[in-house]
Amino acid sequence: MLRALNVHKSFGEHEILKGITLEVNKGEVLCLLGPSGSGKSTFLRCINHLERINAGRIYVGGELVGINERNGRLYEQNENELCRMRMKIGMVFQSFNLFPHMTALENVMEGPVTVLKKDPEEVRARAYELLEKVGLRDWADRFPKQLSGGQQQRVAIARSLAMEPELMLFDEPTSALDPELVGDVLKVMRDLAESGMTMVVVTHEMEFAKNVAHKVVFMDEGNVLEQGTPIDIFESPRHERTKAFLGSID
Ligand code: ATP
Ligand code: MG
Repeated sequence: MLRALNVHKSFGEHEILKGITLEVNKGEVLCLLGPSGSGKSTFLRCINHLERINAGRIYVGGELVGINERNGRLYEQNENELCRMRMKIGMVFQSFNLFPHMTALENVMEGPVTVLKKDPEEVRARAYELLEKVGLRDWADRFPKQLSGGQQQRVAIARSLAMEPELMLFDEPTSALDPELVGDVLKVMRDLAESGMTMVVVTHEMEFAKNVAHKVVFMDEGNVLEQGTPIDIFESPRHERTKAFLGSID
């Protein structure tokens, strides 16, 4: 579902991603770990072409991201092609970025109605289902400022799911939350994983990575230092950097 081959990304003189290669199969959860500044967010942003990569290839659902290959030649994707590709990918950030002037329900309905031009009544029914799924059916008419951070993040997840993505990217979705609110968000993500969603999750929640991930990737200074199953990485990390990092988090 997601394949990154030798992805390089620089900002000016600084090479931030130095050849990232990894793969996530359909229905798998990959947790991306690594110290601050190692390039995790940059890599996620490259996956949906919020950043243009300098070398390498990224495929989502078998299709190239950012460029097309026709008759052996490469073309930059145009706005329509990028839009279509991005619709396959949902993204949830640390800051939830809900539309402040819309209720939870309206936030979830917005994309399918305005972007996908779907019938509002069908979308409304589906939005209620999604809010139910994230435990917020009774909060549908609240505005973001009337919701806790954890509730807002769950609305943000429902809003992403409303676009029916094939792949969900999460960038530290719980790190801005008060500790007592983290569990509800992780539970929603875990349910989503169990329902078969393909997910890439940047997180410092080691229990989540241990229990939910199929693959764990440890990044350091723009490289994949090691990758494997949670058992490989947590029980027998090979690199000192990984050991030190895991030691500092636990
Ligand atoms: P954190 O755990 O703190 O979120 P991260 O692993 O997500 O860290 P990135 O945000 O990907 O790290 O940043 C990697 C490096 O790239 C950092 O040194 C950062 O300063 C740099 N960087 C990121 N975005 C840009 C940009 N738009 N322009 C220049 N440098 C950038
Ligand atoms: Mg980051």
